[in-house]
Amino acid sequence: MVQKRKYIVGNWKMHGLNSDIETLVAIDAYCAGQADSNVAICPPATLLVTAANAVSNIGIGAQDCHEATKGAHTGCLSAGMLKQVGAGFSIVGHSERRADQFETDRDVAAKARALHDAGMGAIICVGETLEQRDSGKAIDIVCSMLVKSLPEGAHADWLTIAYEPVWAVGTGRIPSVQDLTLMHDALREALIQQLGDTGSKMTILYGGSVKGDNAAEILAIENVGGALVGGASLKAESFIPIIEAS
Ligand code: PEP
Repeated sequence: MVQKRKYIVGNWKMHGLNSDIETLVAIDAYCAGQADSNVAICPPATLLVTAANAVSNIGIGAQDCHEATKGAHTGCLSAGMLKQVGAGFSIVGHSERRADQFETDRDVAAKARALHDAGMGAIICVGETLEQRDSGKAIDIVCSMLVKSLPEGAHADWLTIAYEPVWAVGTGRIPSVQDLTLMHDALREALIQQLGDTGSKMTILYGGSVKGDNAAEILAIENVGGALVGGASLKAESFIPIIEAS
């Protein structure tokens, strides 16, 4: 049986102008020669249309959506709007949004549900702060966050989880292989307990300072189904080695 390659998703955050589409084109061209790669990039919303039109071998996703389909929410974008401009899925509940926009687990679940209702996929991010890690309760805290962030009707066909320790995002620090194994195994167990069979199939990505030189070790962990990559996804030279490791 051919082993499916692990998922590699880039999150460009608030980076990217029209001139950066050439990076996407280079990543897309690399993936054209890799029939089995599972790669997607989430550019800022302003680049979604151009990005979707520029690629044919990688997926394009958004970084957030509103839980409502329309209404008086100045500056926000609904799932349907994102879909219309080429996003097939969206990240929700990234730690930067939970911190900067005070998003709660309830908000995250509602956003994920809105994506599903619009016929899109969702990646729900969960992860502990350094203080929570140092308290020795990271596994309990992150599993509880996951359970509370799961939307009604959660299913592996459209929902992906990303474990992203806040202290590892953009810092160059990563958890040990042992800690990552323990956390991903615990998340898998929590998904099975909550969702049954579909929980055993749901992809659990790892995110936080993934680079070309640490990707292979992280991706070799059984319950790590792929990587969510921030900084290293901004340049083809730093992103392609991560795809190679998948
Ligand atoms: C992220 O933003 O989701 C992320 C994992 O960032 P970085 O890879 O830069 O740590």
